Amino acid sequence: MPDERQPMLEGGNNTMYTQAQGYPPQQQGGYPPPQQQGYPPPQQPGYQQPQQQPGYPPAQGYPPPQQGASGYPPPQGSYQGAPAGAGVQETDTPSYKGEIPDDDVEVNPDNPSSAAPTATAPPLEKMDQVAGYNQMDAPLPPPPPPSYDEATQPTQRAGIQQTPTLTDDEAREALVSFVAENCCYGKKAAKNLHINDLKHTAAFHYTLETFTEKRTTKWVHEPFSGQPIDGPHNGPAPLPWNIAVNIPSMFQNSIAKVEVPHTASVKPCHDCHSIGFRRCHICYGRGRTRCHTCHGHGRRHVSHYDHHEKRHISRWERCSFCHGMGRRRCYTCHGHGQITCCTCSGRGSLKCFIQLTVNWTNHLNDNIVERTALPDELIRNVTGQVAFKEENARVWPINHFPDQAINQASKDLVQQHSGAFQLERILQQRHQVRIIPVAESICQWKDKNFSFFVYGFERKVHAPDYPQQCCCGCTIL
Ligand SMILES: [Zn+2]
Ligand SMILES: [Zn+2]
Ligand SMILES: [Zn+2]
Repeated sequence: MPDERQPMLEGGNNTMYTQAQGYPPQQQGGYPPPQQQGYPPPQQPGYQQPQQQPGYPPAQGYPPPQQGASGYPPPQGSYQGAPAGAGVQETDTPSYKGEIPDDDVEVNPDNPSSAAPTATAPPLEKMDQVAGYNQMDAPLPPPPPPSYDEATQPTQRAGIQQTPTLTDDEAREALVSFVAENCCYGKKAAKNLHINDLKHTAAFHYTLETFTEKRTTKWVHEPFSGQPIDGPHNGPAPLPWNIAVNIPSMFQNSIAKVEVPHTASVKPCHDCHSIGFRRCHICYGRGRTRCHTCHGHGRRHVSHYDHHEKRHISRWERCSFCHGMGRRRCYTCHGHGQITCCTCSGRGSLKCFIQLTVNWTNHLNDNIVERTALPDELIRNVTGQVAFKEENARVWPINHFPDQAINQASKDLVQQHSGAFQLERILQQRHQVRIIPVAESICQWKDKNFSFFVYGFERKVHAPDYPQQCCCGCTIL
């Protein structure tokens, strides 16, 4: 491959390009940029020299070796692939000192090796051994629960509330207003229908909730910028289930992440070998990339029609984008050949610690007992009367409800929940039975018989067989 400092001239008349050797061309205004003042920048603001930290244990390899005289680019907090001109100083002298491949680099979004680097985790074998933390990234078996017998068996249970009912007039009113809400339903039928029979029944809705906690630990890391380090010098780490974490809200799903005390340490960044920078993935350290405009040739073939000579005249012209060099400053690293390490945000070191993740989950199962033709699932989302409610560390199945199907559902679900969450700690349980009024109305309108249902305290109507359904051909439910 040609030397990158030489424009790749090919064919044609070379005499036009002798000035290319004099790069950078002096006549170009504003390029190269004026000498940068006050560079390299002073020590990063806010960066505490770790030696000054009380109790700071010098981890192996730390602090990182002083960065070279170039020291550029200054760590930006986090690497965002900063666009040119976003406060980053440009240069024509790459500061990257590592290996640079002989091959020219194609700036090509399809080339996987030119993809922007992402932060990576340090290898696990580099992490400290912490007693009680051998199992990572999987739910930790909770301590054994108190045996089921020890859980409070209710000696006195709340009685069952009365079943609410709906009157004939309420059922008719509900149907009339239901028809009024549906433009396509004829109102005549609702007003004039004859209710032959109104059967009052009740649906029962049993709900069991088991609120659990799950704990998982894993090693995590973040750029080290002088934040406090609570390491083993402060004592042994508490065991995962002994760490006090406040429950944000009972019977609601939530997650908390906390740092396990006394597990933190500072380690050199594995990604950049503590330098804080890494070779630019676009220019591979050169600081310059092939010019898109002239494809690296340094000149372009241009033609125009000459009116005097009455013919097209073509000639080679120096590429004005790269000033005949065939290459331009890399827009990713601004000419430095290296970019801020995204794993350590340019800090060179990482704070590593064990993170405890606590997952609170509310496991909810229910059972609906409904004995009319009304679809059962309609019961779930309407209001009714709470006939029975109980909350405890562990609940006992309901055995005194008048409807045996509910007692059986309670027995089954309590049994199911007691063995279903082996890797979670049961914090609290509650169950309840709601009674939802259902009125089934057998009606006659003209010579047609049909039935409809009114259910819930909202008096919702389910009338799939309503006789005057469609006046305009549209489809209803
Ligand atoms: Zn670059
Ligand atoms: Zn060019
Ligand atoms: Zn790094």
